[in-house]
Amino acid sequence: MKHIVVTGAAGFLGSHLVQSLIGQGHRVTGIDNLSTGVIRNLAGVMENPHFVFHEADVTRPDTMDIFVDQQVHEVYHLASPASPKFYQADAIGTIWVNTRGTYHMLELARVKGAKFLYSSTSEAYGDPEIHPQPESYRGNVNTWGPRACYDEAKRLGEVFCYEYYTKQRVSVKVARIFNTYSSGLRNDDGRVISNFVTQALAGQDITVYGDGSQTRSFCYVDDNIRGLQAFMAEDRADGEIINIGNPTEYTILEVAHLVKQLTQSDSKVVFLPLPEDDPKVRRPVIDKAREILNWEPEIGLEEGLKRTIEHYRLMLQVQET
Ligand code: NAD
Ligand code: UDP
Repeated sequence: MKHIVVTGAAGFLGSHLVQSLIGQGHRVTGIDNLSTGVIRNLAGVMENPHFVFHEADVTRPDTMDIFVDQQVHEVYHLASPASPKFYQADAIGTIWVNTRGTYHMLELARVKGAKFLYSSTSEAYGDPEIHPQPESYRGNVNTWGPRACYDEAKRLGEVFCYEYYTKQRVSVKVARIFNTYSSGLRNDDGRVISNFVTQALAGQDITVYGDGSQTRSFCYVDDNIRGLQAFMAEDRADGEIINIGNPTEYTILEVAHLVKQLTQSDSKVVFLPLPEDDPKVRRPVIDKAREILNWEPEIGLEEGLKRTIEHYRLMLQVQET
């Protein structure tokens, strides 16, 4: 049985990862400051004797004291707001968690001889001039805009990883995660799938930003979690940056109509201003993931949306009763 640390454990991806690891029989310690995460995401594991939760902030050095007398085998550093709505509301906190927080968790991995996985992002490519995006693309990020606190902090987080891999010999893996979705995203998370599904089920207007011609490539959470775990498990992937995402690309307008159709909603599709620096296209090249991790996504958008819609429907019914 391994002891695995997950930061951001009460968040969307963190809580899915924790449940998967516990299901595989590992001992897991979850850390989260509950800034965007919610404890109910962990309801299924809170009573499990192999799971321990600490409400703590990874930007504080004393958070590492939790592990003073403990062996740690793996660290998944997922803590960080991910929705533009939330990371822009706490820009400085976002910078700290991805820089200082990453440094603290790398130190923990170094001291314990643990493997380390960092959840970086497709935002490292910014508004890309190369399409689709391979890991070798160095990106087109604006340092002077509302997305910079996230994009540039993630890029600096990757630099910490590079230094700990090359100088400290920590077994480091950098996952550049592309838009991932399912239930578990908060209703008010602000990201496109949670917005559209919530709006469609409530009969509210579906809010497309801009003309909806911008594209994204959506990965269902189960595929993502399988990819992160395959990455952690593969020794050949040490010191690598690997895209984890689904390479099937949709315009946002297509997604709006698909959600409307699958929910059989009467909602109107309306158009609102496009946020500043919103990337125009995004699609991962996943050759490296296929070759090194033997991983690729299995769940298409329509199937993933059907599952997501079902979960949201049940959640909304529970909230109403
Ligand atoms: P989320 O907001 O649902 O979860 C992030 C969690 O981190 C939250 O529970 C939050 O409370 C916690 N957190 C934030 N700051 C913290 C701090 N200082 N100390 C301790 N905990 C802190 O986001 P998510 O979608 O689950 O994303 C998880 C990770 O994956 C993030 O690092 C994000 O940047 C990355 N990522 C996600 C996606 C995606 O599509 N979901 C895409 C690219 C990258
Ligand atoms: N978007 C939208 N309507 C919404 C929320 C988002 O049209 O209600 C668009 C947003 O402008 C972007 C895409 O959907 O082009 C994905 O946005 P999200 O915030 O989910 O993630 P991003 O990839 O921008 O970080």
